[in-house]
Amino acid sequence: MYDLIILGTGTMGSSVCYHAAKAGLNVLGLDQFKPPHKNGSHSGGTRIIRQAYFEHPNYVPLLHSAYEGWNSWENEAGKTLFHKCGLAYGGEPESELISGVLRSVNDHQLNIEPSLGADKEAGFDVPGSFKMLFEKNAGFAIADESIETVLELARKQGCDFQFDDRVVGWELRNGHVEVYTKKEVYKSRKIVITSGAYSGPLIPKLRRKVEVTRQKLFWFEIDNSESFQEGKFPCWCFQDPDYPGLFYGFPYFQTGTSHHPRGLKIAYHYPGEIMSENFIGADHVETPYGEELVHIEKFIDKYLRLENPQLVDRATCFYSNSPDKDFIIDFLPGTDQKVVFAAGFSGHGFKFAPVIGKIVLDLTTLGNTGHPIDFLRLGRFSKTANPKEV
Ligand SMILES: Cc1cc2nc3c(=O)[nH]c(=O)nc-3n(C[C@H](O)[C@H](O)[C@H](O)COP(=O)(O)OP(=O)(O)OC[C@H]3O[C@@H](n4cnc5c(N)ncnc54)[C@H](O)[C@@H]3O)c2cc1C
Repeated sequence: MYDLIILGTGTMGSSVCYHAAKAGLNVLGLDQFKPPHKNGSHSGGTRIIRQAYFEHPNYVPLLHSAYEGWNSWENEAGKTLFHKCGLAYGGEPESELISGVLRSVNDHQLNIEPSLGADKEAGFDVPGSFKMLFEKNAGFAIADESIETVLELARKQGCDFQFDDRVVGWELRNGHVEVYTKKEVYKSRKIVITSGAYSGPLIPKLRRKVEVTRQKLFWFEIDNSESFQEGKFPCWCFQDPDYPGLFYGFPYFQTGTSHHPRGLKIAYHYPGEIMSENFIGADHVETPYGEELVHIEKFIDKYLRLENPQLVDRATCFYSNSPDKDFIIDFLPGTDQKVVFAAGFSGHGFKFAPVIGKIVLDLTTLGNTGHPIDFLRLGRFSKTANPKEV
């Protein structure tokens, strides 16, 4: 009998495993693959970490805690996970991006520079009408490397893992929870569901709340790569008035590793191709070019001073989009607080991983959390929700 079983040990599940094992619980992490892997929401190399949150200022207090969490993981692991190369924001002054960044900065007294400075601006071709902002205390993590590190830290704290075995169901039984995988049956006092894009089959009632989309990522080789390396060129996020969504990118990676391809990564943050209701397993993972590449090539022509850009790599990854694009973290109704789930990270959850793990642990052990998550709880949907759904 475990104290806690975590269903899905990717970005959020690995963090729950770490916090729960560190708190002294008897913990088991289960995954259908061996994280990190290329079939979920954490593939594709880098993830931006930032605090001037244009999506909503409510996220900023959580980000303060997440930043502390990244710092303590780095100290415990003895390596850098969060590369603070800064983040350039570009857009029309009234755009959702720029006005949202400034709203968070003002509400939470964050530091932001009103311009990039000549050296960092050199790689961009910025229209005169654009406002540029620079967040120094931002940057990126390499997703695979972070997850691998956190799983190792959890293992050192005594967490058990079983990989390459899919959970096919779970059931409340005589005051505990039984978890059924393809190979085994496990028992636990409580469970956590952090199964990302594959949550539908494990939480059928959530299916209509979370829509899975396939997103595409592209890497370019360039002749002037020297000017785009970390230290000279920051992460960036631009809103082009002619397109919905955002374009974003990272410094040039000189060396490819198993965690990250070589090249300059550029992507388009906009809901991609909607995956079917029955989406499960790795069968649907493929990497078509799609119209995103056309948009990105136009973006490069307009905004980046790249010499002879050549597409050298591409990848896909899944967003799990909630109706309002805010995360959903709560007890699963009707489970007597024995099942907590964290889902719907809507393409912007990675940076929060350290604090999400702590919040989920608080919910399972204390029944509540001191972190301000009311805006992320299920209750926000209650006015519109069909009572038969979650
Ligand atoms: C292209 C792209 C770019 C992004 N960029 C950013 C960014 O710049 N900054 C940022 O903060 N966020 C970003 N995100 C979002 C972030 O990566 C996700 O929010 C985060 O990875 C979601 O974590 P998760 O734990 O929900 O999913 P995952 O990390 O996918 O973990 C879920 C795990 O559950 C396992 N699982 C599922 N079902 C089962 C089952 N039945 N049995 C056993 N195991 C199961 C899966 O195998 C998987 O390992 C991006 C996402 C994508 C796709």
